[in-house]
Amino acid sequence: MTKRDYYEILGVTRSAGGDEIKTSYRKLAMKYHPDRNPGDKEAEEKFKEAAEAYEVLMDPNKRARYDQFGHAGMRGSGFDHGFNNVNDIFTHFSDIFGGGSIFDEIFGSGGSRRHSGRHKQPGIQGNDLKITLRLTLEEIAEGVEKTIKVKRFEKCKHCSGSGAKGTSGTTECATCHGSGEVRTVSRSMFGQFVNIQVCPSCGGEGRVIKEKCVYCGGEGRERKETTMKVNIPAGVSSGNYIPLRGEGDSGIRGGSSGDLIVLIEETEHKFFVREDDDILYDLTISVSEAVLGAEVEVPVLGGTVMMKVEPGTQPGKILRLRDKGIKHLNHSGKGDQLVHISVFIPNKLSGKEKEMFKELARSENIKPKSKHGDRKSKGFFGKVKEQFS
Ligand SMILES: [Zn+2]
Ligand SMILES: [Zn+2]
Repeated sequence: MTKRDYYEILGVTRSAGGDEIKTSYRKLAMKYHPDRNPGDKEAEEKFKEAAEAYEVLMDPNKRARYDQFGHAGMRGSGFDHGFNNVNDIFTHFSDIFGGGSIFDEIFGSGGSRRHSGRHKQPGIQGNDLKITLRLTLEEIAEGVEKTIKVKRFEKCKHCSGSGAKGTSGTTECATCHGSGEVRTVSRSMFGQFVNIQVCPSCGGEGRVIKEKCVYCGGEGRERKETTMKVNIPAGVSSGNYIPLRGEGDSGIRGGSSGDLIVLIEETEHKFFVREDDDILYDLTISVSEAVLGAEVEVPVLGGTVMMKVEPGTQPGKILRLRDKGIKHLNHSGKGDQLVHISVFIPNKLSGKEKEMFKELARSENIKPKSKHGDRKSKGFFGKVKEQFS
């Protein structure tokens, strides 16, 4: 069975953000929820399909792989088969199907499949942070360990993240009596609605601090600047990102930490151009080197190599230096360096040199065989594939 496109399944665009994906998934999950469609196999399949799409698109890593490689990129990641069992879905997305979610309102809260044992997390989750990491082609070619500086909230060491002064601790919120939610019932011509909102007094935590820690003002976290090491695999490109789980802002009062997203940006090289994992380089040689042939030194990523130019080499010729490109990100091996030959035509000649050229000009061999050049040699950059295919 061919798999449908994840974006299509969720009915979102390829640039959709997390909130949009979540909203769309919730709608579909409600529509095809097994409780609502008892015994309906097709609904169950749709339910599983949506869960799989959601799982992939909400994970920056998996989403990047999927965007790049489609379903093939999911192979071996545990997602080539999708969810087999509806119960897996409930276990997997406890944040969506957990207590206090929209599912409890719609399907009642007696469902044993849902997380009866799930207890409320303390505090409020910290934000995800994003930093841009600029890398040179040399760093990308082999992979690199970088030290990054991050400004983020970290757990307050004076109150160990509780936000409470000394041993004063917390007390149950008087507004919501510990549930973290406030329910209001409204009636309209369509019937009765139960509206559930996050408790404004405790922000949904269910508990309030008796006496605030003076160092963090009761937040349980403080602003810090920290350095950490990040391993960048070889072959990344601009737009790739590396999520560091739990390295974002610390949560408020013991809430879990957000993630740190390291966004890769490739800096422009002085004379190399990257095309996928190949390196394009334009080498200018002299007329005599082109005519007589030569051994020339060519810069490559991280050094130089000697390259043979055959006698009679035409401008526009492309020579391939195998495995001198960038290491592939998702499989073994490397790209190549493709060297495009340009020939320098001298424009300042002494009288004697001019005489030598004039003498050469009389020779039959120096005249072009045809005045029409090789059409394919024009526009090297961006058209390399055309030439090599
Ligand atoms: Zn504190
Ligand atoms: Zn409350």
